Amino acid sequence: LRGARGRRSAPYSGSSRTRVIAVTSGKGGVGKSTLTANLAVALASRGHRVGLADLDVHGFSIPGLMGLVDATGAMPRPTRIDDMILPPVAHEVKTISIGMFLREGAERQAVAWRGPLLHRTVQQFLADVHFDDIDVLLLDMPPGTGDIAITVGQLLPDADVLVVTTPQPAAAEVAARSGLVARQTGQRVLGVVENMAPMPLPDGTVFDLFGAGGGQAVATALSTPDEQVPLLASIPLSPALRRDGDAGTPAVLADPHDAASLALTALAERI
Ligand code: ADP
Repeated sequence: LRGARGRRSAPYSGSSRTRVIAVTSGKGGVGKSTLTANLAVALASRGHRVGLADLDVHGFSIPGLMGLVDATGAMPRPTRIDDMILPPVAHEVKTISIGMFLREGAERQAVAWRGPLLHRTVQQFLADVHFDDIDVLLLDMPPGTGDIAITVGQLLPDADVLVVTTPQPAAAEVAARSGLVARQTGQRVLGVVENMAPMPLPDGTVFDLFGAGGGQAVATALSTPDEQVPLLASIPLSPALRRDGDAGTPAVLADPHDAASLALTALAERI
């Protein structure tokens, strides 16, 4: 993990030395939340102090991926001390989700939120949640180039951005757009992560559900003469990654020798 770049005062309650990495994607379902949860846990298990904030208001899945949802579907209520909100800790990661603030059974409310309310909510969320002294804060962004992406870009212009895509050309096109929006707000595109890449099978053949090449296509589309954007990792399709996510223990912990876990651990060492 590299040191934080020079920052203005942080609009969130973590230390101003905290490095912020926003994980974004062009569309939903490409594995952005799964990768973010695994990265958070991989960084924590390497001794970094890690925060994880789920800003995906329309499809928050971080609490489930981190094992914070009980059998009845309930999530922990974050503890409040005065004006501060203390995030629950899961797998050694301070984890907070916008979903934890919605009334029980009222999750659907958030779907109808419009721009200004989203802006205020995200602003308050980042300001009031007390991450204390952490080295890195990972943000699970909503997919696409909507209001929250722009709000976070304005609030955290020093954040680094990881763009997640599948190898499919159509997914790659929209993913590149989300990287361009991040850059327009002044954020730096750290690199591209390709997920659901071809999976080698025991019989020596390769299962390539989504084809190949999308990750490199996004990296190339986002590169400029001044700034080369690298393809940082290619994470294969992995039943373990899906299963462990559903069970609430990220695969880097539950199945560390799985090919996807190894690729994610290597990615955590690279960023
Ligand atoms: P997003 O946050 O982009 O909407 P999710 O992380 O919710 O995507 O992942 C969507 C679905 O794909 C989940 O069921 C997840 O378990 C599964 N998934 C993610 N990555 C992989 C992978 N590499 N192999 C197999 N399944 C995956």
